[in-house]
Amino acid sequence: MVPYGQNKVQTMMKPFLLLALLASAQPLLVQAEAIGGYAAGCQTGAQPLPQSGAGFRVVRAERQRHYGQPQMIDYLQALGQRTQQAGLAPMLVADMAKQHGGPFAYGHRSHQTGLDADIWLRSGHGPLPSRSQDMVNHRLYILNRHFGDDQRQLIALAAQDERVSRIFVHPLIKQAMCRAYGDAPWLNRLRPWFGHSSHFHVRLHCPAGSPNCEPQAAVPAGTGCGRELASWINDKSGALSAGPRKPWRPALPAACNTLLASKEPDS
Ligand SMILES: [Zn+2]
Repeated sequence: MVPYGQNKVQTMMKPFLLLALLASAQPLLVQAEAIGGYAAGCQTGAQPLPQSGAGFRVVRAERQRHYGQPQMIDYLQALGQRTQQAGLAPMLVADMAKQHGGPFAYGHRSHQTGLDADIWLRSGHGPLPSRSQDMVNHRLYILNRHFGDDQRQLIALAAQDERVSRIFVHPLIKQAMCRAYGDAPWLNRLRPWFGHSSHFHVRLHCPAGSPNCEPQAAVPAGTGCGRELASWINDKSGALSAGPRKPWRPALPAACNTLLASKEPDS
């Protein structure tokens, strides 16, 4: 038997629930668009990546940086499924973008248009970790014991999707991928970059339907495993972390200034 009071509360709740549902459906009605450049832009119609799904988990969701363009959400969910099918541990998805994009108060310069995502390289089994795991012994300048076949397989799966423009990895990780996968055509999407020794950073192409999205130049032809990689391996100047950087305050497209001024405070 339902007590009268509870029933009354439920009846009163209905209009509010309807309103809440309408409000939550609102973002879906906004045209999804990546606007501007990866390091000076914003986004509309972004979706949050669910906190977990087949083959993936979101870390540090309280930072509210798990929003992306629908193409990014679809890419990550598809990658999670392939990860699971390959028998790998769930991948750990870290920073993507803020709901409306734009620059972060700290951390990355890019990740502003909903087309960038960081994926940690540590195993995603067990309790949800709050920190990433470095895969490089910076003193000896070699990969450490944490980097193995699971990491190679995950990066390979991530790079094979045609929607990927490039994936930033530490030069030593690029070298390991070149050694494992020879002349695979997707190797050129793996771009050596310092600061990516505990995670890799996926960047998708500008989606169709985002006419104001500024694409990045195409990656050079070839696997990038030869001379270019050697120059990175030999240049260890940026190998050690440079420490925290100043907040990045780029000039944004006018549409972004309007959007961000009226939306959530910087976080
Ligand atoms: Zn990143």
